[in-house]
Amino acid sequence: SLKSGHLREGLEPSRGAEPAAAAAAETAEAKGEGKVLVCARCHSLRHYGHVKHPDAERLLPDFDFVAAVGPRLASPSGARSLVLLLADASDFDGSFPRAVARLVAAAGEAHRKDWKHGAPANLPRALLVVTKLDLLPTPSLSPDDVHAWAHARARAGAGADLRLAGVHLVSAARGWGVRDLLDHVRELTGARGNVWAVGARNVGKSTLLNAIAKCSGVVGRPTLTEAPVPGTTLDVIKVDGVLGAQAKLFDTPGLLHGHQLTSRLTSEEMKLVQVRKEMRPRTYRIKTGQSIHIGGLVRLDVEELTVGSIYVTVWASPLLPLHMGKTENAATMIKEHFGLQLQPPIGQDRVKELGKWVRKQFKVSGNSWDTNSKDIAIAGLGWFGVGLKGEAVLGLWTYDGVDVISRSSLV
Ligand code: GDP
Repeated sequence: SLKSGHLREGLEPSRGAEPAAAAAAETAEAKGEGKVLVCARCHSLRHYGHVKHPDAERLLPDFDFVAAVGPRLASPSGARSLVLLLADASDFDGSFPRAVARLVAAAGEAHRKDWKHGAPANLPRALLVVTKLDLLPTPSLSPDDVHAWAHARARAGAGADLRLAGVHLVSAARGWGVRDLLDHVRELTGARGNVWAVGARNVGKSTLLNAIAKCSGVVGRPTLTEAPVPGTTLDVIKVDGVLGAQAKLFDTPGLLHGHQLTSRLTSEEMKLVQVRKEMRPRTYRIKTGQSIHIGGLVRLDVEELTVGSIYVTVWASPLLPLHMGKTENAATMIKEHFGLQLQPPIGQDRVKELGKWVRKQFKVSGNSWDTNSKDIAIAGLGWFGVGLKGEAVLGLWTYDGVDVISRSSLV
């Protein structure tokens, strides 16, 4: 199968990669090979033919799409680029590849100033692809609403005038929307386009590309370019045959988003956090001075209310333990229960490793208890849906550097 990874040498390791890279560098030095730095995964691949470290994903440096692919997006040869911006339905804002979206938006803006006779032929275009749609409570959602919501979130994420050629809601696992996506990609690229699939790690890119390849009848034929080691894509790779003889589909290594909580979890912790089945809401009625914990990862405090209580719905993996209690006991919870009853983190030692515990404040107002007024989303984890009649001041605690945003509610 297609699976993203990376191969880099002679580069400084990025944040989080130091221990592994240092170990590899020591090996290199012991062999008298000078100062070549190789990450743990590359070292394992080269020397053992497989990845040994169970947390290799977490330790890998990031793939810099903007530097690696950016210059090729506006191809002087005239072959038009189409970027597939993948975002996970269960973690839209955290997984959305915003740096790449910004690049596409900026290319458009730069060119639009000079337009006289319409868009230049080599201006890159983008399709938003929302993956893992089956994880949302689809029976209670209207596809049109999700479509509009995703479009708005993508524009907010790009922070610029991102013009999308379309929005596709897909589930590669269920085969939803894959044929439509493939048809649209073929229509947009014509005979000679380049298509770049871009997404954060675990967004479901490999699964989707395999589903697209299968849909186009490629699987089983030797034209599908696979990485030499199963389970890894070592660099940008070309997936042959899917789009016809001339148009090219490129898979890129999964982006590492430091702002996603998942980027700092171990593989064991990830198992508790990753959503695998349709999300089920867990709702609490909660008053001023009360807090909800999601494992030892996040805490929501109700600091002030203009009404008696509000409804807070947790949308996250069902394997994560929730705890509601008084805010005044919060410090004790951290000291005595984080890493033990409240996992992840798994083990009390991991609490400090995850970083500094910091608070962000949100003011939320609403006029109904039946529908959620706002979501407070935590990148890489899930979100709180808040329903209230009146106004609330909420404090959201999590580890420093994890993105927390307030957005219009999805469900
Ligand atoms: P990549 O890192 O972006 O290539 O992601 P993968 O394709 O390896 O998928 C990451 C995880 O998400 C795996 O556990 C997949 O089984 C799961 N996954 C991928 N696509 C879907 C989907 O459409 N629905 C669901 N429920 N899970 C999916």
